[in-house]
Amino acid sequence: MQPCPVSGLSSYTQGCSRFVRDNNDSRVVVLLSGGLDSTCLINKAIVDHRVVFGLGVDYGQRHKKELASAKMIAEYYGISFSVLRMPVISGSSLTGDGDVPTGIHYSDHRQSSTVVPGRNMLMIGLAISEAVKLGCSEVWYGAHSGDAFVYHDCREDFVDYISYAANIGYGVKVSAPWIKYNKKQIAEYAVLNRVPVELTWSCYLGQDVPCGSCGACIERKESFQGLCNEQNRTGTCIS
Ligand SMILES: [Zn+2]
Repeated sequence: MQPCPVSGLSSYTQGCSRFVRDNNDSRVVVLLSGGLDSTCLINKAIVDHRVVFGLGVDYGQRHKKELASAKMIAEYYGISFSVLRMPVISGSSLTGDGDVPTGIHYSDHRQSSTVVPGRNMLMIGLAISEAVKLGCSEVWYGAHSGDAFVYHDCREDFVDYISYAANIGYGVKVSAPWIKYNKKQIAEYAVLNRVPVELTWSCYLGQDVPCGSCGACIERKESFQGLCNEQNRTGTCIS
């Protein structure tokens, strides 16, 4: 039997499912991009004994490596995973309009070219629709405090208001459990909980290996600084 990837539980299939309470309150749709933040969310949901449905979204991103990662992560955790396709959203370097900026920090205002207008709103809408269909009471997505500078739809008040509307309309709550966490804290969570970091993909580019110089790569590298010895010991170091 495969060892359980979540610390504290003894086996992957039987052990994890034994602790799960399957009712509407425990069911959650987690938007799984294939990056570190959403992968840590999957881990957290399993630790919290939730019934987890991973959802990836194809919004016309310039590469599909993150969705391939998401699929591998879902398989690793043994959760349901589906991908929904949206029309391509133009107007962002992440969907092919212009070059992805490199060599600048994630919080630099020049990262605004990587904003995909309306994407998160639409993805959350799709997730709410899935949640209703699957009998889930909640949708989780992986916004964190460091996102807020450039990505305004990752701000706490955005989450609060969209959750308010989703609850009125559909009886579904929208949560961003990392909204008060910064990337460093999420990296620490990943290391402490043996999240399979090596399966995740953060780079905005779709090369064979992460470019190391886009905002996502720089942020990821900085977040894991000082943690890598521990990562090596847990076998999850990717840098
Ligand atoms: Zn990169």
